[in-house]
Amino acid sequence: MKIVRTIQALREERGKMEGSVGFVPTMGALHAGHLSLIRRAREENDHVVVSVFVNPTQFLPGEDLEKYPRREEADRLICEKAGVDLLFMPDASAIYHEDEVTLKAPAYLGYILEGHRRPGHFDGVVQVVMKLFGLVQPDFAYFGKKDAQQLRILQKMAEDFFLPVTIVPMETVREEDGLALSSRNVYLSPEERRRALSISKALKRASKMVMAGERSAEAIEAEMREVMRGIDVEYVAIVDRDFRPQERVELKKSIILVAARVGATRLIDNIWL
Ligand code: AMP
Repeated sequence: MKIVRTIQALREERGKMEGSVGFVPTMGALHAGHLSLIRRAREENDHVVVSVFVNPTQFLPGEDLEKYPRREEADRLICEKAGVDLLFMPDASAIYHEDEVTLKAPAYLGYILEGHRRPGHFDGVVQVVMKLFGLVQPDFAYFGKKDAQQLRILQKMAEDFFLPVTIVPMETVREEDGLALSSRNVYLSPEERRRALSISKALKRASKMVMAGERSAEAIEAEMREVMRGIDVEYVAIVDRDFRPQERVELKKSIILVAARVGATRLIDNIWL
């Protein structure tokens, strides 16, 4: 596995690759969720590129940019073991220029739910992913459904800009007890972790209600809020695949999303019906 930190070195290594390139962009502190993306990329491509870059432009002032977990050495070992060919770990100064051209997330999709709570977050996401796509020129890029809105926006970006890349959505990887894996889980104390479990429990309850025939978004949301009464819920949303709110849940069409604060940690999770 090669590790590169500069644009020039990345370009050189990319230039040597023949055949398909699978790409997994991450912010590091890699866990089993990231690993499932990397494994799938490994299965489906001749070459696998992973980036580890804590992208400053997707953090809002006052968010956890400085304290976001950084685990370079562990990330390197995980990638090496998983058969990654090229690990790109740039500094922000290599990625960003002065007074540069900027992309904007879609006016609706980029500014509801996560985008409403974190205005500008998805602008930073599209900016950095467009840059990384330009550098890596992947045939396939792998993203987790855990970040459902991000996934939809990046699919839109690839469509809207006619990018020659296929976005591959991947299932959310969870701990045995249901907690969705996240680099931010390291912030949770044992007591907070216990309370955080109510997020995946609420989603599971919602799924059971739907399987039992319940279709009312209001009834499902009320039940979910009851399950999550011990934490500070930011939103519960039941939307279609384009994130339009639904009054009635539809199988194979709805996504149920939750954002909540547990102590100082903000967590998101969802299920795709
Ligand atoms: P991040 O490092 O948090 O920016 O995540 C990098 C990629 O891994 C994104 O496409 C995420 O959606 C994906 N990801 C994060 N957590 C999980 C998880 N628990 N299961 C599957 N994919 C995940």
